[in-house]
Amino acid sequence: MIKSPHTVSGGADRDDSGPLLAGQTGWFDFSTLWPGAPVKAVLSQREAPSVPAPLSEHREDLAHQLGLALKTIAAPHQVHGHRVEWARPGQLHGETDGLFTDDEQVVLTLQVADCAPIYFYHRPSRLRGLVHAGWRGVGAGVVTASTDFMQAQGVALDQVEVIIGPAIERSCYEVGPEVVEPFPPTVWRPHSAGKFQLDLVAAIREQLTGAGVLAGKVTGVDVCTRCDSRCHSYRRDGQQAGRMIAYFYKQNSS
Ligand SMILES: [Zn+2]
Repeated sequence: MIKSPHTVSGGADRDDSGPLLAGQTGWFDFSTLWPGAPVKAVLSQREAPSVPAPLSEHREDLAHQLGLALKTIAAPHQVHGHRVEWARPGQLHGETDGLFTDDEQVVLTLQVADCAPIYFYHRPSRLRGLVHAGWRGVGAGVVTASTDFMQAQGVALDQVEVIIGPAIERSCYEVGPEVVEPFPPTVWRPHSAGKFQLDLVAAIREQLTGAGVLAGKVTGVDVCTRCDSRCHSYRRDGQQAGRMIAYFYKQNSS
């Protein structure tokens, strides 16, 4: 897999590396990978396991930490599908896995734990998207649905910048044949008997570039959610796994 030289440092059991939101711990800040962009693309890190709040309250607490007003926040009810749509601030959307906006006041959010959060940004129009991408969604076409959505708004895909946030990496992602079935053999390999290892980030990259996004404008962050103790991981923690919350917003919006 080709990686941008601008990668977020990461690795197992490190809790003091990677870009952090200025003045705050507990956050990845991927927007440092887009110098000069007037946006914040962030993801919460793993909190103390004792945090008991329901997900909605947890999301609200994090938004408060970021200084974001709840009425500006749009959140999808994610179903591992391939639907994306315009964000409606102040709402929990129905079944959808990606939200887009060109309104600078709108805060996009989603939740992940091994699936990748994908941040799409078109600087000329300020169109932004935040998309939840696991194997089901990517296999069903959520990446292509996202590029189609942007293209339908008149966006030239070769101008779109993309950050693929932390996801489970190939060596940690053993799956059955039904999982790799929708993907080309370039993004998976046989592993143990009847099992395979899927490179989800490579699959996302392949679909992005296949749609016309330039490979040089797609940035991965080289953080494996299962290995990196800063991340929640469904594979590692099972039903007990928490969720990381992604936010994508204009800097200084509130
Ligand atoms: Zn790993």
